[in-house]
Amino acid sequence: MTDTNDDIKLAQALQEQFDRPDFGFAVEPITTCPHIPNSIATQVFIDTPCQSCNEPKENWQCLTCDHTVLCSRYRNGHMLDHFEKNKDHAVCLSYSDLSVWCFVCENYIVNEALDNLKHAAYMAKFGEEPPQASTLVVQDNQGAGSSSCAAGGSGSSSSNKQ
Ligand SMILES: [Zn+2]
Ligand SMILES: [Zn+2]
Ligand SMILES: [Zn+2]
Repeated sequence: MTDTNDDIKLAQALQEQFDRPDFGFAVEPITTCPHIPNSIATQVFIDTPCQSCNEPKENWQCLTCDHTVLCSRYRNGHMLDHFEKNKDHAVCLSYSDLSVWCFVCENYIVNEALDNLKHAAYMAKFGEEPPQASTLVVQDNQGAGSSSCAAGGSGSSSSNKQ
């Protein structure tokens, strides 16, 4: 039971790092959505303007199509149009904040099936790895090595088993 809760909390914490607070409204992300396509492309087209109106910003990528990039409902709403015409194309990725939205569930989705795509989108948008993965590993290695070598033998070994 607690493991599941921790997983959800971790997923939400990761999601909050992707979600920008200026997006304007807070919705609790859901962790399961039956509309996520079985195979999700890991390729993103982050510089592609809306394929209907050439809107350069606030575009979404349909996760059901191979390569469909359309603008948000706050621009000309072409991704919403796309969903209205193709009701099974419900899940899409925001190029603004790298969140994944389902039009049917009307909710953001946090699911590990989306991690590869989000990672690819982050790399495409920022040109580098997402910050939490690399910095955590580096800090862990340095901290364990230096402190236990220097002060391990003499007095304060109660907190460190080695
Ligand atoms: Zn859904
Ligand atoms: Zn458009
Ligand atoms: Zn589509």
